[in-house]
Formats: sequence, C-alpha cells, structure tokens
Amino acid sequence: MLDRTRHGLGRGRRVNVLLPTTLDEALGTLAALGGKATPVAGGTDLFVHWPNHAHKQTQPMLDLSGIPSLRAHEWTESELILGATTTYWDLIRDPRAQAEMPMLVAAARTVGATQIQSRGTWAGNIVNASPAADGVPAMMAMDAVIELADTNGTESIRLDEFYLGYKQMKRRPEQLIARIRIPRTSAHKPRDFESFVKVGSRRAQAITKVGLAITRQGDDWRVVANSVAPVILRCRSVEKMLAAKTSIASPRDLYEAIHADIAPIDDIRSTAAYREHVLARVLFYELARACDWVEAGRADA
Ligand SMILES: Cc1cc2nc3c(=O)[nH]c(=O)nc-3n(C[C@H](O)[C@H](O)[C@H](O)COP(=O)(O)OP(=O)(O)OC[C@H]3O[C@@H](n4cnc5c(N)ncnc54)[C@H](O)[C@@H]3O)c2cc1C
Repeated sequence: MLDRTRHGLGRGRRVNVLLPTTLDEALGTLAALGGKATPVAGGTDLFVHWPNHAHKQTQPMLDLSGIPSLRAHEWTESELILGATTTYWDLIRDPRAQAEMPMLVAAARTVGATQIQSRGTWAGNIVNASPAADGVPAMMAMDAVIELADTNGTESIRLDEFYLGYKQMKRRPEQLIARIRIPRTSAHKPRDFESFVKVGSRRAQAITKVGLAITRQGDDWRVVANSVAPVILRCRSVEKMLAAKTSIASPRDLYEAIHADIAPIDDIRSTAAYREHVLARVLFYELARACDWVEAGRADA
C-alpha cells in the first residue's frame, strides 16, 4: 500500500494519504489505526473549503479510489448492488438503472453538476449524513440496505434505521460501507409508483429546501423526506394514512400526519413553516398521481 505524505496543505502541515488496493487492505489498515483514519471516496464533501480546513485534519486519510472492486455496481436476480465508490454518473449512464429504477437516476441527476456526479458516491452521500442529501431519500424509499464491513465481518443495516440523530449514525469508526443493496421488484420493472422531487432555489445546483422520495408497491408505501428534520426520515404517519387508504382531499388533510413526522427548522434557506407547507403541497400533488383516493381536483388552489 502506498503511503503518500503530502506537504504544503495549508500552514505547512502534512497529511498522510493511505492508498489501499483491496478492501481487505483498507479494513486491516483502519483496524490497525483503531478507526482513526478518514475514508475518502470522491472527496466532494470532504474537500469543500479544503485549504481552510486542512489544518484540522489530524488523522491519515484512507483513499478508497484505488480499490477497483469497490467501484463496480452489479445486478443480481434480486438486487442492485452499489459498490462503496459507485458514483452517481455510473448509474446515470446505465440504461438498466434508467429502465428499472428511474427514481435513483432522477435523484442522481439533481446532485451538483456533471463534475460532482462523476466523482461523488452514493456511500459518501450516506456517511456525510447531511439532512439535505439527495441520494439518501431515493435509496431509503427503495429499502436500501447498507453493508458495513470491518476485519471481523460484515453487518447489514437498513438505511431507514441507520441514522441516530444529526450527523450521528450506526457506523463504528473501524467500519467502512462496503456495499449498498437495493431490492429489485420480482418482475424487474419500476415499482408501481416512484417519484423524486427536489425543491431548491433553482432547478439545478442548489441545496434542497424540501425533498421527497415516494415509492408504492401495491399497498406498501414509502414516503421519505429530506431537509425537514435533523436526519432524512420516512414519514411513517403519512405512510399509515396511505396504507389505510384514508381519503385525502387537499394538502390540509396531510398536515396532522406531516406535523407528527417531521421537525423542520428555520435557517438561511427557509423557514420551518415554509418547509412544512411546501412538503404538504408537493406530497399531495405527487400522491394524486399515484392513487385515486387522493383527489387533486378537489384541492384548494
Ligand atoms: C459543488 C457541489 C455541489 C453539491 N451538490 C450536491 C447536491 O445537489 N446534493 C447532494 O446530496 N450533495 C451534493 N454535494 C455533496 C456531495 O457531492 C455528495 O454528498 C456526494 O455524494 C459525496 O460523496 P463523496 O464520494 O464525494 O464523499 P467524500 O467527500 O469522499 O466523503 C463524504 C463522507 O463519507 C465518508 N465516506 C466516504 N465513503 C465511505 C465509505 N465507503 N465508508 C465509510 N465512510 C465513507 C467520508 O469519510 C466523509 O465523512 C455537492 C458538493 C459540491 C462540492
């Protein structure tokens, strides 16, 4: 394994960059360091404002980009499996992903611009744990499962059970996300309904103010929202309303359930009230496309 000591990264500090070539080597290195190394995938989160932050980097970086086996994604009979360094662009250019999981591709297309899409990874989006992340809601609405690996083996955790609080998650420091598994439908076609909506200041190159990913397979619904709580979450009260086929005649009918599910804040991008209001309206009109007991025709303007 290469140990590249880089000089001159701000105020004369040195940052060690370790370059394993296999997953076992990466896990062994992380274990030997007691988890005290920073995994780097695409670096598009880690290196934002890097010159100003370099002096805070007190531990080595573990660059995963030189491990070829982590890059590929794979279709098995029952799952799409993303490697730890599979990028957004890897899925955007896969026609099978577009045909079978269009929501994932739609989400990928909203992440930054082409440069970010071609370097940024799905795993990095999960571990960065931003409440505004755009890849996470799409994966969560598709029941993604994360495989966390260390030298003792692999542990599988559902993405909707991974976050514990703001930037808190069930990953131990000596673990890496090795793979992300996304179930396919038995007929290998899109779910009965899939929708990804990102509301930002602009259609592209904007941080999400309110985001939504919805899937429906029969009576089984997933409604996932981002930028409306400290973590990205499933709106379980809304999901229960949908499973019960509760009649919904206007966005107002969703307020009580939404209020129970989310905990938005006021910040520089939006107020909490705005986020809640927009989520109700966007959700209502998306649901009206997905089922006949939500009636857009009766909604207030
Ligand atoms: C200009 C710009 C625009 C952006 N636009 C968007 C946007 O629209 N939507 C959006 O969601 N994000 C956006 N981002 C943020 C970023 O691109 C994404 O979150 C991306 O998915 C991060 O992936 P990465 O591989 O670059 O992560 P990195 O920066 O390499 O890592 C991010 C975090 O994950 C950890 N990590 C990475 N891989 C692993 C692993 N396998 N196991 C354990 N830990 C790991 C790292 O240690 C770090 O803590 C933007 C960033 C920039 C610079």
